[in-house]
Amino acid sequence: MALNVNENTHPVPDDVAADIVARVATAIGGVNRYPDREFTELRESLAHYLGHGLTPENIWAANGSNEVIQQILQAFGGPGRSLLGFTPTYSMYPLLASGTGTVWLAGARDAEFELSPETAVAEITRLDPDIVILCAPNNPTGTPLSLETIAAAYDAARGMVVVDEAYAEFMPEGEPSALTLLPGRPRLLVSRTMSKAFAFAGARVGYLAADPAAVDALRLVRLPYHLSALTQAAAVGALAHSDEMLGMVGEIRVQRDRLVRELAGLGYRPHRSGSNFVLFGGVADPHATFEALLAQGVLIRDVGIPGHLRVTAGTEAETTAFLTALASLGRPDGAQSSAAAPVGSES
Ligand SMILES: *Cc1c(COP(=O)(O)O)cnc(C)c1O
Repeated sequence: MALNVNENTHPVPDDVAADIVARVATAIGGVNRYPDREFTELRESLAHYLGHGLTPENIWAANGSNEVIQQILQAFGGPGRSLLGFTPTYSMYPLLASGTGTVWLAGARDAEFELSPETAVAEITRLDPDIVILCAPNNPTGTPLSLETIAAAYDAARGMVVVDEAYAEFMPEGEPSALTLLPGRPRLLVSRTMSKAFAFAGARVGYLAADPAAVDALRLVRLPYHLSALTQAAAVGALAHSDEMLGMVGEIRVQRDRLVRELAGLGYRPHRSGSNFVLFGGVADPHATFEALLAQGVLIRDVGIPGHLRVTAGTEAETTAFLTALASLGRPDGAQSSAAAPVGSES
């Protein structure tokens, strides 16, 4: 089973899939024509889904949030400009920077991969970037980010500040999004994706909310008709069923919290996570553990952080299979295993 790239391991529900297929079938009838280049209906659906008083003028979308971030760098970065991220963070940021000729600046985090307002401001002051990108919650560490840090980073930065909320829907219920910071902050861009919580990774739909002027700047760099009529129809269909599409988020959060709890019980050091995956330390030889799990049919991720591995929260059965396979490798601290004892054993 694949628990390596933070996909939603639950498929699109059958009734939603049927509605999406019907909408795509209708769209096929018109594919001799170019699609709506302003993807107006999709922007209306996304504004409605996000709420927070946002209107279609605040919304942009592209083929995955990777493309959204690439377009941000094409519009606001490029030769002679720089992008600051706080490492370890999403591995695509330096690649997208390099592809657009933007200089990548690696800022430091605090202990346990946290990012305080003071550290964010100090790094922005030290490195003076043109663009700042904050991954909230952060991939690959899972670390949530406070609104205080985002607001402080915004005040310290002289250019655009991007908050990548790819995992926003997995945050604890009621936790505020950076969307709440948008009013009065014209340099703030909040990017989202349908790839994770929406179980729509294969459809390639990412989007952002920002001041209409920032959205306009992206119109200058996108290719004409960059979102196909089929993508637009499928995304509008999925958004019409957002409650059902997001129905598994609660269950995934339960498995995520279970991973944190049980990994600690097995003697590892899981980090706190607001996403659908958990980074855990205390792994003596990550490569060997990765290979041993793979031999048992469980694919997780070695993200290159010494002593750590990352695992995606799957279905209950997948999470159980991962924990059972890991327990079978013995405790990392060499202590007597209780968690690994077979069900029904006395000790
Ligand atoms: C998965 C992920 C994305 C999403 O990429 P898509 O192109 O929308 O599939 C963006 N940012 C982060 C941090 C991610 O982990």
